[in-house]
Amino acid sequence: MGESVRLESYNGALFLTKKSHAHAVFPAPEHDHARCASDGLAHAEALCVAHNERLTPTRRRVLEALLASHAPLGAYELIDRLAADGAKEGARPAPITIYRALDFLREQGLVHRIESRNAFIACVHNHASHDPVVFLICEKCGAVGEAASAAVADTIKSASRAAGFTPKTPVIEISGICAHCQAA
Ligand SMILES: [Zn+2]
Ligand SMILES: [Zn+2]
Ligand SMILES: [Zn+2]
Repeated sequence: MGESVRLESYNGALFLTKKSHAHAVFPAPEHDHARCASDGLAHAEALCVAHNERLTPTRRRVLEALLASHAPLGAYELIDRLAADGAKEGARPAPITIYRALDFLREQGLVHRIESRNAFIACVHNHASHDPVVFLICEKCGAVGEAASAAVADTIKSASRAAGFTPKTPVIEISGICAHCQAA
């Protein structure tokens, strides 16, 4: 698979994206989302094999539900989706089951928690797993973009150090309007 890196411009900021995965920070409304979702699942399967972990049916179904869109879902919305999909299995999944699956997926870097929405999104993998990510949350379409920024991380670290503070998990979430909604 030929991977090339492409510079993309959104709102005047430049982002590097790998073309083979073509994960723009905010995918265009007409993008091939089935491809996004299947790429995401394939990535999860490969990662679990590499880490010697099991993508159990529940973990997979939670990830699939999150991969269904680029907008975050709350834990109870996830329960509703899984209950609707798995009607034949009868039982509605218990919150603890969903939270455990989410914990696993977050540990593997497959899912992120959006603190300000108390919700979760599937990672689009346009950044390395250790990169601090700036979450850009569109108020109009609900999509969440991930902009990995080493510069932002450095600034936070030096500002924290200047205050004698040790930053642990910087959470940077910015609400606004995505490029596609602005154009619409
Ligand atoms: Zn997509
Ligand atoms: Zn991510
Ligand atoms: Zn939008």
